Parts: sequence; structure tokens; C-alpha cells
Amino acid sequence: MIFLSEDQVRSVLRMEGLIDTMEQALVDFSAGRVLQPVRNALPVPEHAAFLGVMPAVYGTVMGAKLVTAYPDHGVHGLPSHQALIVLFRSSTGEPLAVMDGRLITEMRTAAVSAAATRLLARPEARVLAILGSGVQARSHFQALRLVRNFEEVRVWSRTQQNAGRFAAEIGARVMPAEQAVRGADVVVTATNAPEPILRGAWLKPGTLVNAVGAFGPERRELDDEAMRSGDVVVDSRQGARQESGDVLMSRVTIYAELGEILGGLEPKPSAGIVVFKSLGMAVEDLAAAKLVYDAVVGNSGTSLPASGAAFDEDWTE
Ligand code: NDP
Repeated sequence: MIFLSEDQVRSVLRMEGLIDTMEQALVDFSAGRVLQPVRNALPVPEHAAFLGVMPAVYGTVMGAKLVTAYPDHGVHGLPSHQALIVLFRSSTGEPLAVMDGRLITEMRTAAVSAAATRLLARPEARVLAILGSGVQARSHFQALRLVRNFEEVRVWSRTQQNAGRFAAEIGARVMPAEQAVRGADVVVTATNAPEPILRGAWLKPGTLVNAVGAFGPERRELDDEAMRSGDVVVDSRQGARQESGDVLMSRVTIYAELGEILGGLEPKPSAGIVVFKSLGMAVEDLAAAKLVYDAVVGNSGTSLPASGAAFDEDWTE
């Protein structure tokens, strides 16, 4: 069994390949080829935080991510989300790797939104608005520009200084939230806001919203009008009905899972506005972790156990 640090994960994980891997994982999840309960989020009330336990069985691999979410950590200079992923071989139960999951969480979430954007945003989308300036805001900028040719990127964030720093880093313009969203073709909400920061009244027909924040049944980033303005696509219906305040409080009907549309089980939504409500799933973490494991084992020659031919199989069956 190997241990992989964040630096080792970073050295092999590429956003381009990760987007394709996430697409396949979403398709397999929605086709019923993944065993995955809804995440168990254990609250840590004294720190307004939680420990998430996210197991799944996915083809030749299985395992779990343990993720901590401490929204106030910015104050201490630590990332708000930190994680470990444990990977096992499904056929034998052998532990294969323990790896740092912070960067995987950062990148796989943006890769999933990129898959949604590649599928659901208008091909001629030119204006991207990002609400938020943290880890996910950055990774979404990196991922989404791989799937659409944005000519203008707009940034809003609660703390003006953070908005300015992020915008300068990526060559974007800082604007009030309403101004950033009005006229945008693709909008990302990646904040820890407990109350809506995106109003439906600001959205134009044809816009795709990647709604990434607001984990938990009592938090929301989008108001009712935004949620009801078009079709709502989710990563997991079951997850959204338990974990998404945006879905629960607006009482909106879910159109489809992203994997159902990617896999051809449901047609693309025809309505003018689409909201992709992302909550994050264990299968995304395991698929990304397998990508990392395979790359490291291949690159460094780390020997597999004697029985180690499992990854030669088609691991989705
Ligand atoms: P960071 O801690 O790096 O950034 C947090 C961001 O939220 C900052 O831009 C901050 O703005 C903003 N923010 C915090 N509180 C508020 C508030 N009350 N009102 C408005 N904005 C606020 O977090 P991440 O980027 O890692 O995560 C962002 C969101 O994405 C979180 O909700 C997280 O739970 C979620 N997430 C979702 C995943 C998924 O799979 N869907 C996976 C991982 C994270 P500022 O700094 O300007 O004050």
C-alpha cells in the first residue's frame, strides 16, 4: 500500500483527463453501476464544521473519502476543506493507497462543473461570472476555460480584497454580484453563503448556473426565482433531496441527474436557463483517486501486489 501526499497527487493529476473521468463516473453512477450511500456528515457544532464520510464501490476499486469542512479556517490560514481518500481493490479487499484528498476535492468538483458546462452551456458562451474567490472559484476558472472560450470573466466576492486579489490573478474584472451576473452566459456560485447570493431576476435566458456551494438542507446560494427559472440538473437525486437547501427550500422539481443526460438516458433540457446543483459524490473522489493511483504506479514503477492485475479489467463492469 502506498501513501500519496498532496504534492504527489498534484504531479500526476491533470484537469483535462479528469473532466473525461468525471463524465464517465457520473454516467456510471446514474446507470446504477455504483454502490454509494448519501454522505454521512457528522457535525462538529463547536466549530460550525463537519466530518464527511463518503464511501463507494465502483468497479475494480472501492473505498472512502473522509473530508473535513471548517468554513472559518481562512482565518487560521488552513484550507476550509481537507481530506483523505482510502482506495481498496474491489476483487480482493486489498488496500492500495491512502492519499491526500484536498486537491482531489478541489479539482474533481471543478471538473464535474466543466463536464456540466461542456454539455449544457451554449457553445457560443463568452461571459463567465464567478461568485466567490476561494479554492473552488479558482479551480472553476481553470476548468471551465478548458470547455468554453470565455472572452470576459467577472468576479464578485463578499470580501472586496479577496475579490480583487482573485480577479488580478486570473485577469478578471471585479463587479457587484448583480452586474457580474447580468448578461453572463455561465455563472458559478462557489461560496459558503448560507443565504441566497444569486437572484433569478439577474439571469438571462440560455444561462447555465453551476451552483457549487450551500451544502446542507438549511443553506442556499440561489433564491427561489433562480431555482425555478429553468431546469434543475443534479449530480445525485437522492443526495440533492437530503443535502441541498437550494433544492429543498425552493421545492423545485429535479429535471435529471447530470449522468442521465451524459449517458443518453434523458434528453438535454430545452428550457432557457439550466441550474446544475452540485453537491459532490464519493464516486467522483474514487474515480479521481484511481486515476492518480494508476498514474503513480505506472510512472514510478511502484509494484502492485502479486495479484495485481485488477486494473487491466474494464473497471466499470
Ligand atoms: P473557501 O473557504 O476557499 O472559500 C469560501 C468562499 O465563500 C470565499 O469566496 C468567501 O468569500 C465566500 N463566503 C464565505 N462566507 C460567505 C458568506 N456568508 N456570504 C458570501 N460569501 C461567503 O471554500 P471553497 O472554495 O473550498 O468552497 C466553496 C463552497 O463550495 C463551499 O460552500 C463548499 O462547501 C462548496 N464545495 C462544494 C463541493 C461540491 O462537490 N459541490 C466540493 C467542495 C466544496 P470572501 O473570501 O470574499 O469573504
